[in-house]
Amino acid sequence: MRIGVYPGSFDPVTNGHVDIIRRGAKLVDKLIVGILNNSQKTPLFSIEEKITMLKDATCDLENVEVECFSGLLVDFVNKKNADMIIRGLRAISDYDYEIQLAQSNYSIASNIETVLLISRNEYSFLSSSIVKEVARYNGNVHNMVPPLTEQFLINKFS
Ligand code: ADP
Repeated sequence: MRIGVYPGSFDPVTNGHVDIIRRGAKLVDKLIVGILNNSQKTPLFSIEEKITMLKDATCDLENVEVECFSGLLVDFVNKKNADMIIRGLRAISDYDYEIQLAQSNYSIASNIETVLLISRNEYSFLSSSIVKEVARYNGNVHNMVPPLTEQFLINKFS
């Protein structure tokens, strides 16, 4: 059984993330969306809120699970008996960071492969930061995020 992990901050989940999840889920028997619980960042949404939004956005995908983790990504991947890390690549600006991440993960856990999925054109501008910025000033994020996330953003900034 092939298990993959798609890790990220998901603060909050966007349609770009969901597209990567849908496409990634076709490559593996089980895809675990791993929400990084990073004590050094101050996220807008709590882990519980992120889990709720991600579960709702992926509820039609039978082989997708949502979990949170802290510590080293490769430790989480090994603990889950996975051997693939899936990440998304939007533009050249993502490239440096994603290569660095993939190479450092490979150097500490060579049993795990990183697979980079190239963003669809329509999502290549989309990031959690942009979405938060638009929502903060009451802009319309309807086409950027799943329906429940839109509701959470409206509530957060109202
Ligand atoms: P991180 O803080 O780990 O970068 P993010 O939640 O911002 O977490 O992103 C998780 C992964 O999803 C990263 O690989 C990122 O490049 C990718 N990603 C984010 N937004 C998009 C998008 N619109 N299209 C494709 N991939 C994306």
